[in-house]
Amino acid sequence: MQPPISIAIHGGAGTILRSKMSEQLKQEMLAVLEASVRAGYEILQSNGDAADATIAAVKVMENSPHFNAGKGSVLTHEESIEMDASIMHGKALNAGAVAGIKGIKNPIELANAVMLNSDHVFLIADGAHRFADSQGFEFLDEEYFVTERRRQQLQSMKEKGIFALSESKYPDDKKFGTVGAVALDCFGNLAAATSTGGVTNKKFGRVGDSPIIGAGTFAENGNVAVSTTGVGEYFIRKTVASDLAARMRYLKEDVHVASEQVIHGELEAMGGEGGLIALDSKGDIHFAMNSSGMYRASIDAQGAITVKIYADE
Ligand code: ASP
Repeated sequence: MQPPISIAIHGGAGTILRSKMSEQLKQEMLAVLEASVRAGYEILQSNGDAADATIAAVKVMENSPHFNAGKGSVLTHEESIEMDASIMHGKALNAGAVAGIKGIKNPIELANAVMLNSDHVFLIADGAHRFADSQGFEFLDEEYFVTERRRQQLQSMKEKGIFALSESKYPDDKKFGTVGAVALDCFGNLAAATSTGGVTNKKFGRVGDSPIIGAGTFAENGNVAVSTTGVGEYFIRKTVASDLAARMRYLKEDVHVASEQVIHGELEAMGGEGGLIALDSKGDIHFAMNSSGMYRASIDAQGAITVKIYADE
């Protein structure tokens, strides 16, 4: 029997309202989600590595203006773009992360370069840029990343004097979110990757959970791979991704129980909102969320594809 391969992706969680989503936008987003999950799966099918599969999947969403990562990232208070990304490979627990970076088309590739080619796990801002330069990364002008929708979002946030990531708190901020992927390859490797522009109108070098190993991203062979999306301030304090892995490791909960416990347990009690994707070493996938939607897709161990948006689907 062939060893299982499997992949799941997300394009962000939040209050996603049917009434606010045009049919055209919905179709465009579903198409990107499907292209993303298929790009990762293709690598798994040709006996590729789980981390490479997550990178391929994430890049498709980073390159789309519809998601808050790479092109289409949200704007900071200073009307700039500062992106965060992280990746973890479950075999030797290798990891790489970057925060506050500008001009890099695919931040997930820079996180991967940190994992593979540096002695470190986490590089930020100017230092990360110098590292990127030394690795031969190209720097793009900010115009490449900025979309009209993000300009309008920032304007409305500024007028209200708030920062935000979802419609739930601030009804005029449409949620088009952070992206992530988890994959299981035919060698039994689990990997997770997450990439984001963070939250609209962020100030003072604010960084969320997405680039933090153990909060936004975690992968451990034989156990689970996790990528999260939501209000980062809560996900950091609950170390959501590693908490889920710990529940499976120590309490022997399965991926479904552990995922639901983490999202609907203390995180929710603290007021945290968002979701996660988790994939275990057998190839079982779980999507958990306490928001009304999360852009998501998967191809499971039987080869079945799903692409969904709303929580009640
Ligand atoms: N978790 C991300 C952050 O706080 C935002 C998101 O998931 O949309 O930066």
